Amino acid sequence: MNIIGNYKAIETSIKDFKKTIKRLHKDGYTGLNLTIPLKEEALKYLHKKDKIVDIVGAVNVLNFSKKGNIEGKNTDVYGFKKSLEGLIKSKNKKSAVIIGSGGSTRAVLYSLIEMKYRKIFIFNRTKKKADQIKEDFIKKLKKSLKSEIYSDNLKNINSELEKTDLLVNTTPLGMKGFPPLKINLKKLKKSSIIFDLIYNPLETNLLKNAKKLGLKNTNGLDMLIYQAQKSFLSWTKKEPKKDIKLKKILEREIK
Ligand code: NAP
Repeated sequence: MNIIGNYKAIETSIKDFKKTIKRLHKDGYTGLNLTIPLKEEALKYLHKKDKIVDIVGAVNVLNFSKKGNIEGKNTDVYGFKKSLEGLIKSKNKKSAVIIGSGGSTRAVLYSLIEMKYRKIFIFNRTKKKADQIKEDFIKKLKKSLKSEIYSDNLKNINSELEKTDLLVNTTPLGMKGFPPLKINLKKLKKSSIIFDLIYNPLETNLLKNAKKLGLKNTNGLDMLIYQAQKSFLSWTKKEPKKDIKLKKILEREIK
């Protein structure tokens, strides 16, 4: 796109985070992406934020103004929604199950509310965290919230599987170095969709099992690419196309 620029991965501790952002602005960066645990930490330093950041409580894109003011955006929600397009038929939006209660769970929950899922269940190892997310959303969205949100312990997930149209894994279970997520997918309907936010490995055990049962499924790579597309747009005001070659390169790198 004829942009002379630089995008690279850097590491910073939470302690040095403020200093690091200042340095990056001074060095001429127009913005940056953030990952765990900085998506929540960064909220303290924002001068401006979009509505999604406010409700989700996590920011994955920072934009610097010339003066150094910081604007926070969340493009994970866009990434998640966009990668589900095409997999979903509008009538199959009665019930969704989210596993986990971390930063990405909030982005997924917001997306499913926007997509008008009628019932959304959050199952987590620590029930208190799932309860907290539910309460936060009810408080923030108030009357505009049309979906019913439920929270429960992960141990009780089986009771909801038969009815669910979409199951989303937002835990790191299944990721390289983690044990697999053990869910009995045989309980799901044939029309159910499985979304695993993980992209390394490209095919987790959860997705392998979904495939075996003939269930529609996707990993988190498209979500990653789509959030990047919008991040790029917010820094450069130019939107790159989602290129099949890029996906292939990423898949090769991950393998
Ligand atoms: P996080 O904030 O660390 O949340 C992790 C959640 O997983 C917590 O609720 C935790 O439960 C649960 N968990 C962790 N280990 C567990 C275990 N052994 N058994 C049961 N539950 C367990 O993580 P995150 O930032 O939401 O990210 C989660 C995953 O999504 C990661 O694999 C990340 O790479 C992926 N992700 C992908 C994209 C994408 O673009 N595709 C974007 C964001 C994240 P407790 O509450 O009980 O501790």
